[in-house]
Amino acid sequence: MVKRAVVVSPEYWSADFGRFHPVRPMRVKLAYQLMQQMGLITEEEVLPPKEALLEELLLFHSKDYLDALSKEKPDLSFGLGTPDNPVFEGIWRFSLLSAGGTLVAAEVVSRGGVAFNLGGGMHHAAPSAASGFCYLNDVAVAIEKLKREGLRVFYLDTDAHHCDAVQRAFYRDPNVFVFSVHQEDAFPGTGRLEDLGEGEGLGFNVNVPLPRYSEDEDMLWVLEELFLPLFERFSPDVLFWQVGADAHKDDPLTNLFMTTGIYSKMGEIVGELGVPTLMTAGGGYDMVNVARVFAIVWGRVTGREIPDTLPESFLRISIMEGYDGPSIWDIPGWTGDRQHVKGSLKERVSYLKAKLGL
Ligand SMILES: [Zn+2]
Repeated sequence: MVKRAVVVSPEYWSADFGRFHPVRPMRVKLAYQLMQQMGLITEEEVLPPKEALLEELLLFHSKDYLDALSKEKPDLSFGLGTPDNPVFEGIWRFSLLSAGGTLVAAEVVSRGGVAFNLGGGMHHAAPSAASGFCYLNDVAVAIEKLKREGLRVFYLDTDAHHCDAVQRAFYRDPNVFVFSVHQEDAFPGTGRLEDLGEGEGLGFNVNVPLPRYSEDEDMLWVLEELFLPLFERFSPDVLFWQVGADAHKDDPLTNLFMTTGIYSKMGEIVGELGVPTLMTAGGGYDMVNVARVFAIVWGRVTGREIPDTLPESFLRISIMEGYDGPSIWDIPGWTGDRQHVKGSLKERVSYLKAKLGL
């Protein structure tokens, strides 16, 4: 049987980014509890993260940056100590576990399994700088490691923000396909339609910038028209899915309009691909949405029945957070007839299909 693992640890929610910071690590605890309470995870599937090793981090990061981060002191030359990237006691250990958790997941995946690191997906961290709430780029490190095992990786990023640092890392690399769908005018401002890779990597980097208020149908359109045919053509050994719950309609930092319906569908699509799959959490700044989205995608990828009603204890927390339940599902936001797909998005997809020979 294919090994399944969710990588999680109480240390994932022990970090404190400060009262006014959007990152609320308790979201991970809530997601994990919801998975347990809804029967979407078994005890055998839970794996603890381990600290990433220096030599693993050096696959992507500079020694100078790692030294600076390990000191846990503000240093603006490395982006440390800004409002986005505060430095606090324990940030080094937290970051090592977050990155190491994705490497634990990568081990499961390189043996043919499916694994989800609930503490990973830090796609903005640069080789020598923290950025966008990200300190160590677990994504780039894990992809580089899988690559060195001779595996070809397709990276699908459905976080509302563009994966700038991952794109840069593999921009000239034909063995890593980077595919990002993101809000066109959101942080960090990169991820243009025209960025298709360079040199040998030309044609192996695809960005689909979504207009504000894009909905479930828009995302499904992109996946069916571009992702699936490109995935099939590339025929990778591993799919790496940076999920990102921040494309959800109620996310406080973004302006997309996705519901739980598309996350469920994406989980189904990914599950049906039948290739070893590494998933990471990524963004998501509304705790109840994050928990619902991560429970749903894991349930779908692993082919489980998802109960409609939220458990009593979760519902109590949800109500305090402003979600009145009791369903795990949002009111369906789509008709399924593709009538609503935005014209500007159709043009972008056509442009890419022509450029990529689809
Ligand atoms: Zn994001």
